Amino acid sequence: MPAWVYRFGPDRTDGHAGLTEELGGKGANLAEMSRLGLPVPPGFTISTRVCRHFFANGEALPDGLESDVRDAVAAMGQATGAAFGDPKNPLLLAVRSGAAISMPGMMDTILNLGLNDETVAGLARASGDERFAYDSYRRFIEMYGDVVLGVDHGLFADLLDNFKNLNALASDTELTAAQWRDVIARYQDAIRSEIGRDFPQDTNEQLWGAINAVLRSWRNERADSYRRLHAISEDMGTAVTVQAMVFGNRGETSATGVAFTRNPATGANEIYGEYLPNAQGEDIVAGTRTPLRLTEKARAEMKAKEASLETVMPGAFAELKDIFARLEAHYRDMQDVEFTIQEGKVWMLQTRSGKRSAEAALKIAVDLVEEEIISRDEAVMMVEPQALSHLLHPRIEPGAAKDLIARGLPASPGAATGEIVLTSEEAEVMRAQGRHVILVRVETSAEDINGMSAAVGVLTQRGGLTSHAAVVARSMGLPCISGAGGIRIDLAQGTIRTASRTLKRGDTITIDGTTGEVLAGAVPMKQPELSADFATLIAWADTFRGLKVRANADTPRDTVQAKKLGAEGIGLCRTEHMFFDASRILAMREMICASDEKGRRAALAKILPMQRSDFAELFRIMDGAPVTIRLLDPPLHEFLPRHEAELAPIAEALGITLERLKTRVSELSEFNPMLGFRGCRLAIRYPEITEMQARAIFEAAIEAGKAMGHAVKPEIMIPLVAYRREFDILADVIRATAAKIEAETGQRLTYQIGTMIELPRAALRGRELSEGPGGAEFFSFGTNDLTQTTLGLSRDDAAPILANYAGKGIFERDPFVSIDEGGVGELIRIGIAGGRAGRAGLKIGICGEHGGDATSVAFFHELGLDYVSCSPFRVPIARLAAARAAITARRKGAS
Ligand code: ADP
Ligand code: MG
Ligand code: MG
Repeated sequence: MPAWVYRFGPDRTDGHAGLTEELGGKGANLAEMSRLGLPVPPGFTISTRVCRHFFANGEALPDGLESDVRDAVAAMGQATGAAFGDPKNPLLLAVRSGAAISMPGMMDTILNLGLNDETVAGLARASGDERFAYDSYRRFIEMYGDVVLGVDHGLFADLLDNFKNLNALASDTELTAAQWRDVIARYQDAIRSEIGRDFPQDTNEQLWGAINAVLRSWRNERADSYRRLHAISEDMGTAVTVQAMVFGNRGETSATGVAFTRNPATGANEIYGEYLPNAQGEDIVAGTRTPLRLTEKARAEMKAKEASLETVMPGAFAELKDIFARLEAHYRDMQDVEFTIQEGKVWMLQTRSGKRSAEAALKIAVDLVEEEIISRDEAVMMVEPQALSHLLHPRIEPGAAKDLIARGLPASPGAATGEIVLTSEEAEVMRAQGRHVILVRVETSAEDINGMSAAVGVLTQRGGLTSHAAVVARSMGLPCISGAGGIRIDLAQGTIRTASRTLKRGDTITIDGTTGEVLAGAVPMKQPELSADFATLIAWADTFRGLKVRANADTPRDTVQAKKLGAEGIGLCRTEHMFFDASRILAMREMICASDEKGRRAALAKILPMQRSDFAELFRIMDGAPVTIRLLDPPLHEFLPRHEAELAPIAEALGITLERLKTRVSELSEFNPMLGFRGCRLAIRYPEITEMQARAIFEAAIEAGKAMGHAVKPEIMIPLVAYRREFDILADVIRATAAKIEAETGQRLTYQIGTMIELPRAALRGRELSEGPGGAEFFSFGTNDLTQTTLGLSRDDAAPILANYAGKGIFERDPFVSIDEGGVGELIRIGIAGGRAGRAGLKIGICGEHGGDATSVAFFHELGLDYVSCSPFRVPIARLAAARAAITARRKGAS
């Protein structure tokens, strides 16, 4: 049977770092440091199994624990040359909590245990420092009184404050031994009158009182709500570490401190932290005295007068530096440590891997490889992909002054400053004048695409995290705040109002899409850059990953960005975005309103050269890398105006009657456009659209191929297919067009025709879609629509439903952010198997927001996809996530 108690110390150490579940992080790492021969006060850790036993048995302790603890305490006495409860030379104890997962400040710790009216005198004599002994005793009474006896800590603080006021003392360090004795007497009186009992003088009673209290603190309110917040299981339990005290309050050659072995904000390889001379640990947190800097460099930077530890105790500082280097080499990571210096001697009290900013994570990972402490795959595993997302967007300079006017949802990260515009047209006009604008709308729709891409940021009054504005902004890498309910937009007045302010069109605002803050005026910004460390780490990541990473990009601007961030191709080019441009939408509307095929062809002929030049440019930018172009997808009514008032001028421009336009608008209106007349259904009704698009693609391929000197092999993707027959009808149109162009130009065309899988039927019938000579040559899972169609949940209407579901355990994660592995994932699995059964080695990717979500990418790696495609700004995240998935799989395979 495993032991209840694990000792650590110079003579014997039972535990080690691998036992965090048993010993908690603190206990396991104290044992580990002991094993390394580092200076750790001896002690023992009571296993978390005791805690589980305790709560399973009405707060009773297991048999055998008492004698194990008695023996371990006796051994500590031997190691230290003192004895617990000994009135001449008392051993004092720290009783410390600590679970496997760090829960900072949630549970309790009691220091200086073992003091009573008798042993305190012994401690004074043995140490030759009376003041120190009584200072320690009063600290013990304060902590024990609070944690074990339930006397409010404020009571002691008030008594001490009163005493200091009466005696005109400014700081705790000024009290003499006699004065502390006086304070102690008052504390003991207060306890007697609060709980009707004396402060316990029996040191064994003290010890068991403390152990019980620490165990109980696992279920205090603070710890409970912390666990709920961080999804930590209640069954884990806390360990209890009992350790010999060392004293940072033994005068000016003693101190207590906390440190990071590197700078956790920047990652710089410099010691970072603070200390207090003549103090115990809780003084640093309590904030009653201002802590001082460890290094001379930090002191100079802060322009602090008080000396750094480096100058006050150079010997101890040098020893710490040495210990930190050993810890880093051993743990292969930056450490966050707690230490105490007693009369010049250093003691280590805690170590763990330190939390750090995203920048620091990158720098530390790269530096540790360069210092030959870790390998490249370890560096890649050290950096959380999701944490990097905010490094890929402009940010508000930390510490900048902010004039907050409203708050909304942090819909798309990054910050932007610009002039307020209230319509997409204004946005485009002002953009053309070289101005930066923030588009402020009640909510956005497909018509706002151009306004959004002309803007540097988007703010909406309504809509959730998956509203049109949020989704489109994220895919554009555009900062966005949605659902800022506190603003009112008045189009007629040209204003936006909040409870206290009115801003006009043209006024400057700043939005922070990372926090959801709307600020008046401009705020200093930090521009994003792939720092040298970021570039290095991601290049290492690329050597491990199997999944290719492409980008979803529709415009030259997006494509350039995608390439810069390492995209290995375009996985999804949505052709419709090219039609929304002000100069093109008229031809599109003409096509939609034409009364016959001839009229449609005439309109399409106007669009052809525009599409051709768009595609040619994308091909040139991608320079031979694969480009997947999706044929027209959205329902046609998205191209028509929505408001009565806009109809007349459009009818006039199109040269048709207002009646005709109105009829067309109402013909095209649908109850459920997402499941309506769109995708391949449109093209089967109007094959001339596909013909024009295929021609634009092929002619562009020839043009770009000539310019670059190598052939372009476009991938043409047919959307919303459910039946093989749908695919065949359109594939035939594309092939016939290709044959025609080959005959016209004498050039041979190489291309692939594939399909987007975004309907459950398509996923279920993968084999049917890919088999035979005319079958689909690639699949791309459109996981946005596949999620909508699988869950029967509209993304545009999901926000209130998801909000209501939150915390009810229905969705583990937002299925539009992280793929629903059980349902949508199962369909993908079936689709892959079918597709590859129909056509060996079928190339399969996914496009959809999930391609840039680290958790989903790991899942796609397991499924054996060839690539993921995501918005340009998420490409580095996907590259890192794909590498981590490959490394994890390799490690699993090896073990
Ligand atoms: P927390 O989990 O809140 O950090 P700890 O158990 O680490 O609680 O204790 C808090 C502080 O108490 C430590 O940072 C240290 O300064 C002090 N402390 C803990 N153990 C000892 C000890 N054996 N000797 C002296 N001080 C100690
Ligand atoms: Mg601690
Ligand atoms: Mg779709």
